[in-house]
Amino acid sequence: MQGSFPHNDRSTGARPVLTSLLRGAAQKCPACGKGAMFRRYLKVVDACPHCGEELHHHRADDAPPYFTIVIVGHLVVGLVLAVEMTHRPPLWVHAALWLPLTLILALTVLPIIKGALVALQWALLMHGFDPDAEEVIGDGLPDVDPSPLPRRLDFRP
Ligand SMILES: [Zn+2]
Repeated sequence: MQGSFPHNDRSTGARPVLTSLLRGAAQKCPACGKGAMFRRYLKVVDACPHCGEELHHHRADDAPPYFTIVIVGHLVVGLVLAVEMTHRPPLWVHAALWLPLTLILALTVLPIIKGALVALQWALLMHGFDPDAEEVIGDGLPDVDPSPLPRRLDFRP
């Protein structure tokens, strides 16, 4: 791991992607690598308790569960097939093995993936992480005044 880098430097070069990803995967602040990223299981802190870097800008949304399902699914399905092909155990053995393993893996991998994704968004200056971005109020679309509709149609010549 590298040491802390200037997190409030206003250039993208000050935010190395790989270092940030590793720090996020370790569930640490992507800027300093010391403060905890989560205040609870999957609740991202508003700001790093160590360096004060704002982390509330993240928009991880559905990406962490998506990648978790992809990773855990491929792993468990591969194991299920391997065990079935080599040992052909009864179904209750499959259920006893794979259901708890899937649950434990998913709950273990999910915060790792979420931490890495939040750190990636931070490193790539996505969403509100860009200090030079103008603040967007509302949906970012220009206000358009809709033309008034006629109250009634008048077909008289
Ligand atoms: Zn920090």
